[in-house]
Amino acid sequence: MYEKSKALFERAQKSIPGGVNSPVRAFKSVGGTPLFIQKAKGAYLYDADGNQYIDYIASWGPMILGHAYEPVIKAIQEKALLSTSYGAPTELEIEMAELIRSMAPNIDMVRMVSSGTEACMSALRLARGYTGKNKFIKFEGCYHGHADAFLVKAGSGMATFNIQTVPGVTGGVSNDTLTCAYNDLDAVERLVAENKNEIAAIIIEPVVGNMGCILPKAGFLEALRKICDRESIVFIFDEVMTGFRLAPGGAQERLSINADLVTFGKVIGGGMPVGAFGGKKEIMENIAPLGNVYQAGTLSGNPIAMIAGLTMLTELKSNPNIYAELEQKTIYLKEGLDKVLKASGTPYVINQLGSMISLHFSDHAVTDFDTAASANNDLFKKYFHAMLKRGIYLPPSAFESWFLNNALSYEDIDKTILATEESLKEIL
Ligand SMILES: *Cc1c(COP(=O)(O)O)cnc(C)c1O
Repeated sequence: MYEKSKALFERAQKSIPGGVNSPVRAFKSVGGTPLFIQKAKGAYLYDADGNQYIDYIASWGPMILGHAYEPVIKAIQEKALLSTSYGAPTELEIEMAELIRSMAPNIDMVRMVSSGTEACMSALRLARGYTGKNKFIKFEGCYHGHADAFLVKAGSGMATFNIQTVPGVTGGVSNDTLTCAYNDLDAVERLVAENKNEIAAIIIEPVVGNMGCILPKAGFLEALRKICDRESIVFIFDEVMTGFRLAPGGAQERLSINADLVTFGKVIGGGMPVGAFGGKKEIMENIAPLGNVYQAGTLSGNPIAMIAGLTMLTELKSNPNIYAELEQKTIYLKEGLDKVLKASGTPYVINQLGSMISLHFSDHAVTDFDTAASANNDLFKKYFHAMLKRGIYLPPSAFESWFLNNALSYEDIDKTILATEESLKEIL
């Protein structure tokens, strides 16, 4: 069934570290051989062996309207004939910036980059440059890309001795990263009190997608907003996952909370490598060439990436019903899964908001990294493989949100629920 993927994985490992260009693709947390994908259309992925899968990853979010969405593909094709990069400004970049401003709240100005990692790294630098302060708070289990400062974990006390607690990240960098548990307001207050006037920013996934889907407790984000106002801390929403997915205006709109800086990625590029960060003019004005916080990119605002993103966002803006449709499908999936999971008798938790959903095999609420990590992730592994065998492609880790795309039909979702019922019978 997976012969060609297996052969490709063997071959890949000889010239690519671990056989992949981004770790989660290697299936390490679920075991087995990653599937090598040949093509995708709508809600379906096709692997090198010709197997078809219903896709719940959507390239980790970008394919919100399904794969090979025709208006996006056509726009890319047409634009490519005019050359693929100039290294000089284009009108397209203005249109993109204007469109982002028209959709997302609190964006006076926006700078395009080529990945979510760049967006978060640049937003943090900007917050530091703007405030003149060095430290920042992040939450355990939130992912903000792979820049040094974000890889630091809790309890990096060793950093004091300038020892690398995260391989490749200096103790100096670690010292400036403060971490605490998601949804733990007291811990934030403590960090703020202990580091008075030293904190430049609080960065957060307003709805988390990187430890499965985890929702902010009622009042949590509001309280952080207040702390940031009180202490002159820049509040950064990492909306790389939630941006243009939870609503046209992302989590800010969906949850009615204002951020000072916002980072984007994934959906914003329509499947091309794009990221962006934006926010209040007073802060954004500090970026070069206007200000003295340096940030640049040879391929930033690339015309092919811009036309893909612009076309995707235009579709989303002109048909906001898409969000209601996506949410209805996701709730339908949730209710179907609820039914078969309940019948199976195994403890489980489903967290869901909009078109983000995840399943943890847990008998307690999953509200932060520790509660996600203490779920039965061995059972998730078995579930993942049982589903894959039945043609359902889930994220290969319990620590990732599933992303629904609007090409999914109710028939596809019914198949997914049925596959779950059968899988649970097989693995329990
Ligand atoms: C994916 C992701 C990133 C990193 O984006 P890349 O494009 O992979 O660099 C940052 N933050 C969040 C919340 C993400 O989900």
